[in-house]
Amino acid sequence: MNKRQKKSIALISVHGDPAIEIGCEEAGGQNVYVRQVGEALAQQGWQVDMFTRASNAKLPKIVDRNRNCRIIRLSAGPEKFIPRQEIFSYRYDFIKALLEFQERSGKKYSLVHANYWISGWIGLELKKKLSLPMVHTYHSLGAVKYKSVSTIPTIAKTRLAVEKACLETANYIVATSPQEKEHMRSLVSKKGDIVIIPCGTYIDLFGSINRADARASLGMEPDDRIVLYLGRFDKRKGIETLVRAVAKSKWSRDSRLKLIIGGGSTPGRSDGIERKRIEEIVKELGLWSKTQFPGRISDRELPFYYAAADVCVVPSHYEPFGLVAIEAMASRTPVIASKVGGLQFSIVDGETGLLVSPQNEEAFTVALDRILDDRQLAQQLGLNGRKRVENKFSWNEVASELNDLYLQAIEENNVSLAS
Ligand code: UDP
Repeated sequence: MNKRQKKSIALISVHGDPAIEIGCEEAGGQNVYVRQVGEALAQQGWQVDMFTRASNAKLPKIVDRNRNCRIIRLSAGPEKFIPRQEIFSYRYDFIKALLEFQERSGKKYSLVHANYWISGWIGLELKKKLSLPMVHTYHSLGAVKYKSVSTIPTIAKTRLAVEKACLETANYIVATSPQEKEHMRSLVSKKGDIVIIPCGTYIDLFGSINRADARASLGMEPDDRIVLYLGRFDKRKGIETLVRAVAKSKWSRDSRLKLIIGGGSTPGRSDGIERKRIEEIVKELGLWSKTQFPGRISDRELPFYYAAADVCVVPSHYEPFGLVAIEAMASRTPVIASKVGGLQFSIVDGETGLLVSPQNEEAFTVALDRILDDRQLAQQLGLNGRKRVENKFSWNEVASELNDLYLQAIEENNVSLAS
């Protein structure tokens, strides 16, 4: 199939609006993934419609990203923020709104790519109702997540069943790392076709600023030792481990040490509650004067924060991929990360960063001291990280692998419908 023959695809991301500000409770890696993949695929000739749930009545229902790529916000449930676990109860409204939109606009999709299990349910319905080939990306697996939490939510049984159905029924599953594929096989099902296509990052944007300029622009001193966490406030992100590790570091008594904990939060919501909890720990450990909470970091500011940092720490308990790690690597900043999930794929331990056992504050302290003490090692890890990202994790490369997968899925689907 040549470029001109490429058709319309529906990218579904029910709870992760690709057009909203990233960095808060329900907006993180998935939103970035869907937006970037959609835009990059549109550049490769596809007509891309990204469907999400309208969660703010004031926002427009259709947002054009470029000529071939738009975001469509469907009304399904109240047009306000609803926690993820409650969104599934509006699934019938969502699918009804999507089919009505399709009818009204006269669009015919040739493939559906669903993101996260709630959208997976929608994808399965579209596959059944419209005979569409379906590609699915999990972004997070219930079977893994529930192992690392103390209370299992009531939705768990439903989620696990939908995740199994997706794996066994979708035409292709995209695993973003070999570790995620292994989890699917060992914890979800032996059936189903899994293809590994990683997440990507903007290699031109990150790495375009040097450390001195970044620090000057953020008002940081050239001699500061800056430890950066960036991401959502969620217990699974392990921010507590980082704070405790910093307190144990020999650098904690050095006036040059600064800890930056970046990410948005809303008071009273789960991320606001987690931020408060982290602030209390920071105070209790005597780190308050060394710690900054700059809030949500905008797309424009991100490259500055990454470039300014001496080290970026990703202390997650579980991480299916972890965009922050490759963004820091693209910025030539060494990464210390938990040895979990996709972080073991993006980071080569000792070469492009340091991997340590999750929730182990002593291990994080040792790694922090190693990098803060040895500038040559830090620089080498940063340079190697950049090379690895250039070779493996650009959005264009990711989109062209998805492009090939879509073409294959469409062709196989046509053959099976004809027979
Ligand atoms: N992010 C952001 N501003 C913030 C915090 C995070 O833009 O204040 C972005 C970050 O750059 C990354 C994404 O949110 O692209 C987080 O993705 P990741 O895969 O690391 O974690 P997730 O949110 O999916 O758990």
